[in-house]
Amino acid sequence: MFDNLTEKFEAVFKKLRGHGRLTEENIQEALREVRLVLLEADVNFRVVKDFVAAVRERAIGQDVLKSLTPAQQVIKIVREELARLMGEGEENDLDLAARPPVPVMLCGLQGAGKTTTCGKLALYLRRQKRNPLLVPADIYRPAAIEQLKTVGRQLGIEVFDSQPGEDPVRICEQAREYAALNGFDTLILDTAGRLHIDEELMGELVRIRDSLEPREILFVADAMTGQDAVTVADSFNQQLDVTGVILTKLDGDARGGAALSIRAVTGKPIKLVGLGEKMDALERFHPDRMAQRILGMGDVLTLIEKAQAAVEAEDAAKMEEQLRKEGFTLETFRDQLQTIKKMGSLESLLKLIPGAGKAMKQMQGMQLPDKELKKIEAIINSMTRQERRNHRLLNGSRRLRIARGSGTTVQDVNQLIKRFTEAQKMMKKMQKLGPKGLKGMMRG
Ligand code: GDP
Repeated sequence: MFDNLTEKFEAVFKKLRGHGRLTEENIQEALREVRLVLLEADVNFRVVKDFVAAVRERAIGQDVLKSLTPAQQVIKIVREELARLMGEGEENDLDLAARPPVPVMLCGLQGAGKTTTCGKLALYLRRQKRNPLLVPADIYRPAAIEQLKTVGRQLGIEVFDSQPGEDPVRICEQAREYAALNGFDTLILDTAGRLHIDEELMGELVRIRDSLEPREILFVADAMTGQDAVTVADSFNQQLDVTGVILTKLDGDARGGAALSIRAVTGKPIKLVGLGEKMDALERFHPDRMAQRILGMGDVLTLIEKAQAAVEAEDAAKMEEQLRKEGFTLETFRDQLQTIKKMGSLESLLKLIPGAGKAMKQMQGMQLPDKELKKIEAIINSMTRQERRNHRLLNGSRRLRIARGSGTTVQDVNQLIKRFTEAQKMMKKMQKLGPKGLKGMMRG
């Protein structure tokens, strides 16, 4: 995410830190560079102008120049202003506090990720103990209805039965009645999109809005399209008065223009972000964390949240019990690896750790951690249960069989067992700390 932007910011800051004492001219120069970095990232030029002016006003003051760590102060100001640009301090929570069924309308251009995001949102809300009904109201693209039905089947979430050619406003109204009768508390409306904005489409969306009065009208924006997404968001907002934005495809190599301009231009908050094609790749948007990521400072809070969610799902108590009963074996080790995998790819996790992004780039040529993880799993899966529980059984011929079975080499198997025995030794030491120490570790 925003790798290019991050690299350039890091270069500007490195130079700034290189000056022992900062002069006003040093800061002006850094600001000129920041301005270029933002423009190259496709941030709206007016937004850039205001941003630089805000940073300048705070950074040129005597306090910063006289402070013991002037460069640090300037970087802090940039971070705070970036976060503010993306809406830090403003409400950006979904607001579903209304009498059920609460309609939530998603709109946007074709290909932005609307249908996928409807599915993701349904899953996201179900995890918050809501009971959503998916409503396909894009009647022009028959594949869109099918696509939503497929997503619904995959998630086990009901999709209202609409047919191509029906009036979309009627579909939404009928879905609302159906939801009220069948105990659904949220309606997720997947509306039609076009390749470009057109009046007919807007007219239809306005009619749906006027009839259903959705609590949330969310504009789905493709972050990869940069300023185009911002322009389109602006016109949707003018016609529909949207309540917020969902920014998709932030996992790709988007330059940052959409993320950094969309709130300032539309005045509407980014509420959620899409970070992948999988159904669970939808997250709340945190402006300050995003600013830290952009500046290469990592995002430890998100990492901790992910760890907590993964371990809770796995049931920490169960894992503890297994460890207590069986000790730390290759089998418990594999189960733990699976928990880690639930948190997302190792590469994406590493990027949340401050400085790790840079370290990863230096590892070029080494095996990618995710590949490594798959290999380890394949090796352990090729063992028998007895072998997994007692690695001392693993003699030469067994190791050869396992290497063949897992499509790896005997060296790979040897290396894994070596690493495992080292980890086991460490676990033994930890266990000596008693149940408290162990618990602390498991909850990480
Ligand atoms: P719609 O025309 O707006 O309904 O768009 P779709 O939901 O059909 O999505 C278009 C494409 O974007 C599909 O291939 C999706 O898998 C992909 N997509 C949607 N959201 C994301 C995301 O957050 N990350 C990535 N990488 N792809 C996404």
